[in-house]
Amino acid sequence: MTNIDRARKIKMILMDVDGTLTDGTILVFPNGEELKSYHVRDGMGILMAQLVGLKTGLITGKSSRALDKRAAKLKMTEVHQGILDKKKILEEICQRHQLTPEEVAFIGDDLGDLEVMKKVGLAGAVADAHPLVKKASHFISTFRGGQGAVREFIEFILTAQERWPEIEEKLTELTKIK
Ligand SMILES: [Mg+2]
Repeated sequence: MTNIDRARKIKMILMDVDGTLTDGTILVFPNGEELKSYHVRDGMGILMAQLVGLKTGLITGKSSRALDKRAAKLKMTEVHQGILDKKKILEEICQRHQLTPEEVAFIGDDLGDLEVMKKVGLAGAVADAHPLVKKASHFISTFRGGQGAVREFIEFILTAQERWPEIEEKLTELTKIK
């Protein structure tokens, strides 16, 4: 099966956060609060996927309130923070949405993502992912984590599914002055 065939089946796109949606940098303030930055183009990619009915979600080992806000703003369907067993969460998500693992895509950057990547139908790695993560992936982005890698992964899926006319139409509808 080609990677395009794999991408055609995808109904939900899941992603890791640190090193994938971010560049991995965590700024820690003296009071313990943390600050991370997200890329606006990844956000737009997530919204585009949702426009054509694909579900999106996060699975991350860490926890942050700021991430809850970002995920809510992007209307993500599944948000799972503080997760050590990512594979178990994947199984729960599949059950809840009545999806097979082949219908789920996941993009990550580090060793903690490997188990999930080996289960899903389409596994993506960011350009600066660990070599073993790259080896386990079907798709490697040219952009690094936090710099548009997720957008590139989503666009690969949208292209494989020939969704661009639909996206253009929906974006035009959204931007129409009423
Ligand atoms: Mg990571």
